[in-house]
Amino acid sequence: MRNWLFLLVCTLLSLSTAVPVGAFDKKEPTTPVTLYKADVRIDPTEKRVAGSVEIRFWPKDASRAYLHLYPLTFTEEHKGKLWDELLGKHVGLGTYDSNRITVQGKPVSVKRTGDLLEVPLGKAKTSEPIMLKLDFEMTLPQNEGRMSYDEHALWLGNWLPILAVYDQAGWHLDPYEPIGDPFFSENANYQVNVTLPASYQLASTATDKAATVDSSVRGEKTYRLQAMNVRDFAMVVMDSTYHSLENKVGNTEVRTWYRDEDFMGQAERNQLAAVESLGYFNSQFGGYPYTEYDVVRTGGSINGMEYPSIVFLDGRHFMQEGNTGIITAVHETAHQWFYALIGNNQVEEAWLDEGLAEYASLAFLSAKYPKLGASRVLGRLEYGTIVSSYAEEKLRPWQTLHAFPDNESYSALVYSRTTSMLWMLREVWGEARLHEVLSQYVQDNRFGIASGATWKTLLSEAAGEDSSAFLDYWLKLDGTKQEEAAAWLERQRQNHRNLGQPIKEGQVEK
Ligand SMILES: [Zn+2]
Repeated sequence: MRNWLFLLVCTLLSLSTAVPVGAFDKKEPTTPVTLYKADVRIDPTEKRVAGSVEIRFWPKDASRAYLHLYPLTFTEEHKGKLWDELLGKHVGLGTYDSNRITVQGKPVSVKRTGDLLEVPLGKAKTSEPIMLKLDFEMTLPQNEGRMSYDEHALWLGNWLPILAVYDQAGWHLDPYEPIGDPFFSENANYQVNVTLPASYQLASTATDKAATVDSSVRGEKTYRLQAMNVRDFAMVVMDSTYHSLENKVGNTEVRTWYRDEDFMGQAERNQLAAVESLGYFNSQFGGYPYTEYDVVRTGGSINGMEYPSIVFLDGRHFMQEGNTGIITAVHETAHQWFYALIGNNQVEEAWLDEGLAEYASLAFLSAKYPKLGASRVLGRLEYGTIVSSYAEEKLRPWQTLHAFPDNESYSALVYSRTTSMLWMLREVWGEARLHEVLSQYVQDNRFGIASGATWKTLLSEAAGEDSSAFLDYWLKLDGTKQEEAAAWLERQRQNHRNLGQPIKEGQVEK
């Protein structure tokens, strides 16, 4: 009787999670949306960015707000292997001044701790919007990381002041760290005016093609950019050696930006990978809601870095023929779902965005580039299933970023271990069913924030039973749960086999 009921519930659940592709309702967020209005002037010769940002938001903590001013991180020297791996050994410091900060038009005195600014809000109410304004001027640091420059471009990741998140757990005030992507932010609308010398071009989180460009002042131009309902705002300022390849995927214009000096054939392969993977993810996980997606060649050695509607790929992926450009373009494109569309706390639960993005990219590679896909899957399984030495060190995927001592453990646990877990599930459920569940996760959480707990609830519902032991074994490396996790997976295999088949008395598993 119990088994009958269980199978019935499974069937109903799997029917209810079968979302037809493209069936998203275009729902708008119900809570008031924060608006960032920035006006900046960029001097590519002096590597200077100066201007102001006004942030209109509904405070969740009436007494104060916190702003991350991440560029402050790069005005000071950082020592150690992890910083060297992120920034390179030859680092030029940047400068950052933010001397005037007002709340509702009145200057306030703020408290700075590291790259964090505490702004008193006076007599704010959580029911009314408040306006915070900040003037800033910075010169870019020179390093191998997410915000820097070379002779042809300035790439600006995590450059604009951004509100820290306040939720049921309180304030999330994590500093910039040299491991993982130490960011956590909520969706907002952005209106950004950028003034540049006339000979420069720009690609950003906004729909750049739809920007109005004011060229009324001789020798310069001002882009008026808009990005609605995005988690952050990044951009790259490029000189005239940059060109773009463009293809339309559904409603989205995909553009890969490359340089004269690059190997054109590889730029084309990167563009094809971005185009095909965007189309594949649309079909598997629900439609991409933005009308432009830029893949931009930068300098540095960041490998790849995701931002909403724009990703950075460093020059090594463009200079010669190879698969790394394809692999990185696909992984960063997967982040357009797992990080950008569905946010999460990337400091506390990096496995959630990295693991799901890497799984999704392996699923795409396996479908479109089978040989490459198979070798990538094998690699992830190899690193993701043999982790006893990490368990001995009490390391695990589901832990905060600063608990990872090095990039090797971070990669093996956050990427390979989580991907291996999802690949196991794929093998027992089949691709279609796993992707239905992922698609449900996307639909439930798009434009919002998900958590490991969100995923656990969804997985348990889809499985028809509590998934704690399975997740504890895979993501918390709890060895005491190994047998239980294996049994859980085996039951999933049996149940999946039985699903959709006529069930006769006596045929039900014992
Ligand atoms: Zn990633």
